[in-house]
Amino acid sequence: MECDKVGDLLLTSTYAIAFTGAGISTASGIPDFRGPNGLWKKYSPELATIEYFKKDPRGFWEFYNLRMRGLFTALPNKAHHALAELEKMGLIRAIITQNIDGLHQLAGSRNVIELHGSMRKCYCVKCLKTYDSNTVLDKIDKEGLPPKCECGGVIRPDVVLFGEPVYNISTALEIAREADLVLAIGSSLTVYPANMIPLTVKEMGGKLIILNAEETPLDNIADIVIRERVEEFLPCVVDYIKSQTLHRSS
Ligand code: NAD
Repeated sequence: MECDKVGDLLLTSTYAIAFTGAGISTASGIPDFRGPNGLWKKYSPELATIEYFKKDPRGFWEFYNLRMRGLFTALPNKAHHALAELEKMGLIRAIITQNIDGLHQLAGSRNVIELHGSMRKCYCVKCLKTYDSNTVLDKIDKEGLPPKCECGGVIRPDVVLFGEPVYNISTALEIAREADLVLAIGSSLTVYPANMIPLTVKEMGGKLIILNAEETPLDNIADIVIRERVEEFLPCVVDYIKSQTLHRSS
């Protein structure tokens, strides 16, 4: 059983980390970008570029207004809870995520490094005043699109758009260099430089487990590739680990 193999690797590793992508949140009702029901099947990726935000803030917000509202009704699923539990057991040291939905933190994970920012926060591009996204959604309801700051500047979500540098990459790479095992979960592993995280672990001699419904460009260098749904597979790993630790203590 693959759950047993992954569970054993986690139990014998000394510094395991998780690298997560949009696929961990699809079971929470948040569509990914490139999966079979991904957003890019319906919308143009141009909508998530900094150039588009500058050119047409209203059109940009028509898309982000919908994405933001969808996100606020979503709850962590079994995969987020399983990772939080693995962290509590001391078996996962950090989660490096490309996600902007904040669901790892809602599930109770503590050491979460967000590479692409968070949709739960916004800021004004002119005076840099920060806003809670709920306040911005209320502003949209009252004043329309695009949301504006009291200084007159346009407000934007605090997420990394295509064409912008990612957040926290040096911290994330430092962690990746320390790690002896990385679980790459629900990511197409196509977005650079985020995909340097699993690559770096592998290059430094660590092991790479890929858990994704579809093929990824790193499958050929992975130690284990699992093509299952993350919300089914990760709880199974947790159950296996619990059964082993019970077995060892009895
Ligand atoms: P991606 O859309 O490129 O890839 C997601 C992968 O997950 C796909 O290969 C898909 O087949 C797989 N997948 C979907 N549901 C799955 C499931 N239940 N079990 C197993 N696999 C599943 O996403 P990515 O690699 O994270 O990269 C792209 C960008 O997507 C990031 O920049 C991120 O900011 C952004 N994004 C984030 C969210 C979010 O925060 N939830 C949602 C959409 C996009």
